[in-house]
Amino acid sequence: MKISSLETLVLYLSKLPGLGPRSARRMALHLLKRREGLAYPLIEALKSAADTIKECSLCGNWDEEDLCSLCRSETRENYLLCVVESVADLWALERMGSYKGAYHILGGTLSALDGRGPEDLKIEALVRRIKESQFEEIILALNATIEGQTTAHYLKEYISQNAASNLKITHLAYGVPLGGELDYLDDGTLMTALKERRFF
Ligand SMILES: [Zn+2]
Repeated sequence: MKISSLETLVLYLSKLPGLGPRSARRMALHLLKRREGLAYPLIEALKSAADTIKECSLCGNWDEEDLCSLCRSETRENYLLCVVESVADLWALERMGSYKGAYHILGGTLSALDGRGPEDLKIEALVRRIKESQFEEIILALNATIEGQTTAHYLKEYISQNAASNLKITHLAYGVPLGGELDYLDDGTLMTALKERRFF
């Protein structure tokens, strides 16, 4: 049985993160109702991005050029290196606009469950980069998940043993989010916040 072009469209849309078949159908109808204003420009944008965006060979960011604009920039602080899991995490930090150092994208976290070991992440490239550069601090900005934290601990040991033993290695602070009310926090966050308490 031949699958219709509408069904094909819905099928592909439903593969996007956060979209089930129902929202994919709604999105397909929305696109078809707005062909000139939305569907055709979207096709152009998708094609152009798919053809031109590549991975930066130094940090793993996505850009039209290799090296990416962050690695090419001469105004970044080249003594700071921030290690993140994904391009999305890099973009989140960049949106904030206050970090001016370099990045290194690992491409995920260690995961025994999913069978992801150190060789599946860009760890050797990270060690090589640290050895060849003059970084003074490595910020492990991994997610506050069990896998993110396991990976951070592994990286700390691995970098100390294989790249530089005297390097400052830091991680992001954990605790009460801005605007957060204690009563609404989960136990893990509250416990960490209490453990990481500071002097006024
Ligand atoms: Zn780059």
